[in-house]
Amino acid sequence: MHSNSKNPSCECDADKIESVWHIILKCFRYEVARYDLEHKIETKLEKQKIHEIMENPEKRVEFLSFAEKTFREATSRHRSMKQRPNEETPPTAPTPAPTQKP
Ligand SMILES: [Zn+2]
Repeated sequence: MHSNSKNPSCECDADKIESVWHIILKCFRYEVARYDLEHKIETKLEKQKIHEIMENPEKRVEFLSFAEKTFREATSRHRSMKQRPNEETPPTAPTPAPTQKP
């Protein structure tokens, strides 16, 4: 175990700080969502374009939902380190009917 409370590095690269801008603009873990957003708002997602996006109500809505989604994923990753989300209880197999004797 290592303590990295100061600068949590991103899962994609140990040298990358998992900052807001990294998550929104750079992190390849959200590449698909980012591409989807860029397509919707027809704007390349760059730091210089953020104000342009925020000025447009439609683009802003799309951008904020993208940001919310990525942040939720980023924070849930930290939480899921302790929990085990894949722990599913196996479905109880139905008891096979007793074989009928002739
Ligand atoms: Zn990253």
